[in-house]
Amino acid sequence: MMFKIKSEVQFDMAHYLNGYVGKCSNIHGHRYKLIVKLASETLKKDGQLRGMVDDFTNLKDNLEEIKKNFDHKLVIEENEEGKALAKKLAELPNEFSIYFVSYRPTAEEMSRDIFNRLKSKGLSVCEVELFETPNNSCIYTED
Ligand SMILES: [Zn+2]
Repeated sequence: MMFKIKSEVQFDMAHYLNGYVGKCSNIHGHRYKLIVKLASETLKKDGQLRGMVDDFTNLKDNLEEIKKNFDHKLVIEENEEGKALAKKLAELPNEFSIYFVSYRPTAEEMSRDIFNRLKSKGLSVCEVELFETPNNSCIYTED
């Protein structure tokens, strides 16, 4: 027996995949859809959360925090090439909002990152699904 609760959030984000050959070598964006599931074999026994896996509000708040990190940002891997790109963009009059990550910002790496961020907040996360397009998503679990 297993209870699972899920919630969803969407954000717009541009990314740069260094070393990619093809149309995705351009800086480009997606409307990402993030679906997170929490799992528990038992429900909370007492207090405010009695009868729940977790408070949906708590889950929503955590998803909003994830969203805030990525929404309307240009996400770049923090390596030599990424830093060089950011430096060039900084020379332009627009104020680019860049978010550096330690990995190539693919749906797969982002799913794992988001999973770990939520886990480190103490959420009983069992699955993260990140849609990069309406038809393509990555599912990350730890089993
Ligand atoms: Zn892309």
